[in-house]
Amino acid sequence: MAILKTEGLTYQYSVGTPFEKTAVDHVDLEIQDGEFVGLIGHTGSGKSTLIQQFNGLLKPTSGRILLDGQDIWALKKADMRQVRFQVGLVFQYPEYQLFEETVEKDIAFGPKNFGEKEEEAAATVRRVLPYVGLSEEYLRRSPFELSGGQKRRVAIAGILAMDPNVLVLDEPTAGLDPQGAREMMELFVRMNKEFHKTVLLVTHDMEHVLNYCDHVVVVRDGGICCAQNVQDFFKDISILKELRITPPAIIRMREELNQRGFHLSNDLLSIEELAKAVASEVKSHE
Ligand code: ADP
Repeated sequence: MAILKTEGLTYQYSVGTPFEKTAVDHVDLEIQDGEFVGLIGHTGSGKSTLIQQFNGLLKPTSGRILLDGQDIWALKKADMRQVRFQVGLVFQYPEYQLFEETVEKDIAFGPKNFGEKEEEAAATVRRVLPYVGLSEEYLRRSPFELSGGQKRRVAIAGILAMDPNVLVLDEPTAGLDPQGAREMMELFVRMNKEFHKTVLLVTHDMEHVLNYCDHVVVVRDGGICCAQNVQDFFKDISILKELRITPPAIIRMREELNQRGFHLSNDLLSIEELAKAVASEVKSHE
């Protein structure tokens, strides 16, 4: 079932001025419940404008957004609030949005705003903290004393504390070292697999798309130019070439070997499969 659906979704900036710009143009998109979707496309293609409409942060110029089948802009104000919290939006560099004097207050901000009492919010904070790999000793500290990676974990804990069904992540690993990036991605995989959260990941990293996503949605000039499952998407890299996006290393290797005379199937997506296929092709020529 589609947890998130858009119908003819269109967003224009500065309507009626000389700077009018259609950033999202009649987008029809369906995200199924429990999927891990990669949203890719060049800077300026409209990804950020698109995702900010998913939790009602931006109101579409025209078209509809259906969350669990409900048009979010057709709801009463109080219900709309409820719906908005079902979609947790993690902006790029979310650590810049920390503002409370302690980590605990920062994570508790959302749940309290949503009506949780002091003790309930305290329990929520302690429940989500381990997900982001932080211990309770951080709770009394100022978020501003923490490292960049730790601050980001606190910001993400604040989103998880709202218990959203859908997590929308705008380049959540930008600026992290490889180890930090892997841990962050593992957190989202866990949220997806263990807690059945639908994940929408905006990324420029094709390795992340290949390794973590089930589906890929490509945004170009405000529209969706391709929506496929990951296996099919990486079979034919012509669209990546067209978009000048570097394919994952394993796909590049497969393509290079084929250019040098191998006949490797475009189904091969892992190093193990590729190594096996290369070995068997070499053997058949012995
Ligand atoms: P992406 O996230 O893929 O980089 P954006 O959604 O940020 O794309 O931008 C899509 C288009 O909308 C771009 O042409 C961008 O210049 C324009 N745009 C983005 N934000 C604004 C704004 N606040 N005012 C006017 N135009 C904007």
